[in-house]
Order: sequence, then C-alpha cells, then structure tokens
Amino acid sequence: MQMQQQYGNAYVQRLLGQAPGLVQRQPLPDVAGQPLAAITLDDPASVMVNGLIHVETELLPAGEKPGQFPGYQERLQAYALAWSQNNICAVVTDQEGRYHALKTDWPGRSSQVSAQIEPFVHPYARLSWVNLPGKQELFSENGNSWAERVDRVQGWYQSWQLKAVPNSFKTNFPGQNFQEHLQREFVSLLAGALDISPSLIYVAQKEGDRDPTALITFDLWMSDAQGMGGIKGALPSDETTEVKEPTVAIGPRAFNRDSYKYILGTVIHETQHFSHATIGNELLLRWRKSGSRLSFEKWLRNELGRRRISREEFDLVLEMIHDDEDASETLSYLEAFLAIYHRLPVSGNANRFHELDTMVEYWIRAGHEINDSSIRRLAAYYRVLDEEHRQDFAEHARQAQGAADELNKLFWDRVVKEVL
Ligand SMILES: [Zn+2]
Repeated sequence: MQMQQQYGNAYVQRLLGQAPGLVQRQPLPDVAGQPLAAITLDDPASVMVNGLIHVETELLPAGEKPGQFPGYQERLQAYALAWSQNNICAVVTDQEGRYHALKTDWPGRSSQVSAQIEPFVHPYARLSWVNLPGKQELFSENGNSWAERVDRVQGWYQSWQLKAVPNSFKTNFPGQNFQEHLQREFVSLLAGALDISPSLIYVAQKEGDRDPTALITFDLWMSDAQGMGGIKGALPSDETTEVKEPTVAIGPRAFNRDSYKYILGTVIHETQHFSHATIGNELLLRWRKSGSRLSFEKWLRNELGRRRISREEFDLVLEMIHDDEDASETLSYLEAFLAIYHRLPVSGNANRFHELDTMVEYWIRAGHEINDSSIRRLAAYYRVLDEEHRQDFAEHARQAQGAADELNKLFWDRVVKEVL
C-alpha cells in the first residue's frame, strides 16, 4: 500500500511536470528527410544491401502539424502509432522527455531478410526501432509458424483453465512449471507481434495485477476480454481523490491464429483508452492546480468556451467523469480498424470488419463531434485504400446498410453517402 501511494505520487509529479497547458515546451523540429541510421540487409541471395534510413515523416495525432507537435506524455502512445505502420519506425525521446514516433522510408516486417542497423549520432535522448525486417523469425520457433504456435499455446491454455497439465507438455518439457512456461510462450508471441523486447512486458502474477512502469502487461487470468486499457471506474471530479495511473493489459483471447496483426489491433484499441485516461488525468490536475472556484465539470465547459480544449477532449473527459464509455470506445474501435484493415487480406477472414461493426453501437451515442470526425476519418482512409480493399469496404458498407436496424442505419447511411 505504501508503495502504491508513493507510486501514485510519482505519477502525479510526472504528469504535473509534463502536461501541456502546465508547462511550455519546445516541439521537435520537422525532421522529415533526416538520415537516422545505416542499414545492412542480408538478402536471400546472400548479397548484402547497404543503405541509409531516412525519416519520412513524424507520425502525428490528428490535427497536429510537423514541427509543432510537443510530443506524447506516454511512450505507449508513440509505440501505438509505430505499430500501425508497415515501415520501420523509430520511437524517440526528445530532450524534454516527451515521446515521438518517426516513420522511416524503409519497408519493415514484410521482408524475410534480417537487417542490421547502425544509428547515427542523433539529438534524441533515446531511440528504439519498431517493425524491423526479419522479425518473422521471432514468430517461428523450431520450425513452428505463428499459427502453429498460437494453436499450441491456446491448447495449453484450455488445459490450464481446467487445472490440468497436458501430456504433450510433460513429455516435451519435463520438470518445468506449466503455468510459467505458458505465460512465457504468450509473452514471446506478444513481443514478436509488437517487435519489442519481452522485458518491456510485465507478467501479471494474479488477476488484475498491473505494473504501470512496464510498456504493457500480459494477464493470463483475463478471460472476459481480449485486452483492457485505461483506468477502471470513473475519473474523479473532486479535489482529493487519488489520481490512478492508466495501464494496458492483454489476455489470452487476443491471440488469433490467422495473423499477429489482430493483436496489434487489440493493443492499439486499448492504447486509445489509455490515451483518453491520460487526457482526463491531465485536465483534472490542471483544474486542481488552477484553484478555480468552478466545479471540474463547469471548469471544463469554460475551457471549451475559451478553446483551450477541443470538443472531442471535452466529450471524452465528461463521459469519464460519469463512467460512460461511448466516445472512448468509438475512437478506440475506429483507430484499431484504421490500423489493420488495409493490412489484412480481403478474403478468407471473416474478422476484418469486426472493429468497425462493433464500433457502430457506440458511435450512435458518442455525440455529434465524434460522429462527424469519425466519418471524416473513414472518408480520408477510404480514399487511400487500394482498389481491392476499397471494393471490399464498399460492398460491406452497402450490405450492412441493407441489413441494419433503424439505429445502425444512421451510421451506414452516412458511410454510403459521405465515405464511398
Ligand atoms: Zn474498448
């Protein structure tokens, strides 16, 4: 309990020292075109290919401009942007301790060849790579593919739920602790899917156990959801209730044998909740620090009127105070869909519209601002899809429009009219 208390204080100190609106900060200058590293690819014909990795662009939240973005408070937010890309990305820390995601001009992941990277001298305090080529090796172990490994670990997981140890495990791993081995295998798959070191993943020791200092938590006991992000319960709206630190956790149900990309979708979804909770905490602390006589809710309304927060931020924080979730769920399902749909094959997987279809029931109650902004985001996304995905998306939207009940039809009518 003492630890918890201290930890909460450290978190509040960090937020207070970093939150926009409380501290003036320097944005990262526009870094497009800057060389980041030398890369050597070991291609299948054993020809070494050398080149330079340049920054193609800084990955920015909607509405931000290059050279003006002061960075993310939390590294997980920068990682989530990097995970949604196909290219090699770098997550960097600027001199002020804020996080940025840089997309490079080199394709990542898709290539089977392994890569060696020599970073140049750079002005960042820290730099880590995501989506490096050759990472498929991480998925296959002793000749087993991603699908085979997921099948095996899901089989073990079912036995674990029944408190049994499968004979195949006893034969292949004599004397080993079954539960620990099961957790290690899930963590290995998760680290491979996210292209991060397993050491960044905290392994929950019991249901709901979280470590906010880890990038992400794996919780073997999470049985009712694929993942959980943000904070459980309402955001406080008083002067004294302790500010809780948000986390992201993933459970066994997030592992889909068809593709590692589904886990990316789940992680990106949960990271949105995490970001929203961070915004809520930042605004709560700003209100507490302001010494305003207005209630938190009235102060938020005032800030909105003075355009110091956006309508979207206002809607999100207001629903957090009331422990609702429609705005946050809408944006979370939307981001997950936008991050992975174009990277999935259009045939042979029934799950490719799962995020979008699930979003609809929340969208209806998410308020005008988020209703409109999500339709605009979908329209912009549709314009840059390849022909195959565009046709697939259009077909799905028309079918869904035809099959929708009166409420859902509100959404699909707008998609057909404003997106296609
Ligand atoms: Zn959610």
